[in-house]
Amino acid sequence: MPYPTQPTASHFINGQYVEDTSGAEIPVIYPATGEQIAVVHEATPSIVEQAITSAKAAQKAWAALSGTERGRILRRAADMIRERNHDLSVLETYDTGKPLSETLYVDATSGADALEYFGGLAGSLTGEHIQLGEDWVYTRREALGLCVGIGAWNYPTQIACWKGAPALACGNAMVFKPSETTPLCALKVAEILHEAGLPAGLYNVIQGTGKVGAPLVTDPRVDKVSLTGSVPTGRKVYAAAAEGIKHVTMELGGKSPLIIFDDASLEDAVGGAILANFYSSGQVCSNGTRVFVQKGIKEAFLTRLHERLQEAQIGDPLDEATNFGPMVSENQMKIVQGYIEKGKAEGARLVCGGNALPRDGFYLEPTVFADVTDEMTIAREEIFGPVMAVFDFDTEEEAITRANETEFGLSAGVFTSDLTRGHRVIAQIEAGSCFINSYNDAPVEAPFGGSKLSGVGRENSKAAIEHYSQMKSVYVRMGAVDAPF
Ligand code: NAD
Repeated sequence: MPYPTQPTASHFINGQYVEDTSGAEIPVIYPATGEQIAVVHEATPSIVEQAITSAKAAQKAWAALSGTERGRILRRAADMIRERNHDLSVLETYDTGKPLSETLYVDATSGADALEYFGGLAGSLTGEHIQLGEDWVYTRREALGLCVGIGAWNYPTQIACWKGAPALACGNAMVFKPSETTPLCALKVAEILHEAGLPAGLYNVIQGTGKVGAPLVTDPRVDKVSLTGSVPTGRKVYAAAAEGIKHVTMELGGKSPLIIFDDASLEDAVGGAILANFYSSGQVCSNGTRVFVQKGIKEAFLTRLHERLQEAQIGDPLDEATNFGPMVSENQMKIVQGYIEKGKAEGARLVCGGNALPRDGFYLEPTVFADVTDEMTIAREEIFGPVMAVFDFDTEEEAITRANETEFGLSAGVFTSDLTRGHRVIAQIEAGSCFINSYNDAPVEAPFGGSKLSGVGRENSKAAIEHYSQMKSVYVRMGAVDAPF
């Protein structure tokens, strides 16, 4: 019997679905039940070749259109995504296990935001004119050519759009490889883009593990690689791309600090910490998983946090009343359980949670550890699950120093009612995407990305244009050429 969420075919190449069943089977598992809901096939070398050749063939004519013409198609795709938001959100829920109460508002919709924003920007991309006496220079903002996008499993629709929208706006073609854990949603993005009028070949989706990602990164026809994934994968992909001197964007992992001063609104600080740790069952790269709470407010913070966590509606992700769903996979759940055991073994105090739920699927309770110290494993390594580590601190200076003692630098947050302090502290934190009295907002208008091991480059905002285009400068001499001989 066909699966209800089975895609038309595994890959989308040159404007159409393409199948090659000789590629290894990748089962798609619904995280809420553990049941298989689809199967796709890993891209064979022939599929990879078809994707690259069709992208190369289509790119130049696309770049030759005016930005307004390109943008119109992206904006049409944005409208279509919004019209189909409900079905796309249900598919995202099947793909990831994230509750519909989230996917209806932040997945396809944020993909549509990116298409609308970069579609709007496309017509305003220009070079400049530099007068040099009689002579002059002009610059042309040109496409890079063929961009490869490689996605993580936590936000499959959003990642497919956050990479595709600026790439296409700038006149590039894209070959996108979703995570093998969540292969379904990017196919829909490709389908909608082409239905909106994107010429065939400009946005191709091929499936597979790192075995498919790796040859895409090293292919000499590829000009740019944009990865969303973990730091270990980032190191490999960055190194492989460096061999060919390719452009890169690396959106990698984090272990971000959230600093709560004792003058903060307790209710807002607790709400911020919940958003920073338990949204998408904790599977968010920018999460503020190291929560530094000033000693004066600590016990009140933990008491209120514990109370509010009891209100989490854990259950069927397709029920809109549910606001906390399963982990994406059994594997990820086991990784997180391993960290919970380490937290206990290394002496952190388990405030609440810590257990898997006795039901089908990959459910873990929202978990809070207090009295965590900086050298514990749960204080240093990215867990990527619903596990909050709470630390105590005395002074502002101490909080800043300890917050920066990490190799990561993706995000950071500060809660305080002293706004001068909020700005002063955030200015000293080594991180790319920061928040004051808020957490995890990611509007398309704002640059998003990390420093230190958390990555290079920025997605979203006008900053992304710099990472999907390059400047050509042209010197124009108006007079005679004065050669030495
Ligand atoms: P991952 O690193 O295991 O995989 C990411 C992608 O890379 C997958 O598509 C995978 O197939 C591919 N890949 C693996 N090896 C490869 C290779 N050698 N060459 C090319 N491609 C290869 O990450 P994940 O487990 O899918 O996602 C979780 C991680 O992603 C976390 O560390 C999280 O913090 C990070 N993340 C970062 C952001 C961000 O914007 N900074 C957003 C979401 C997730």
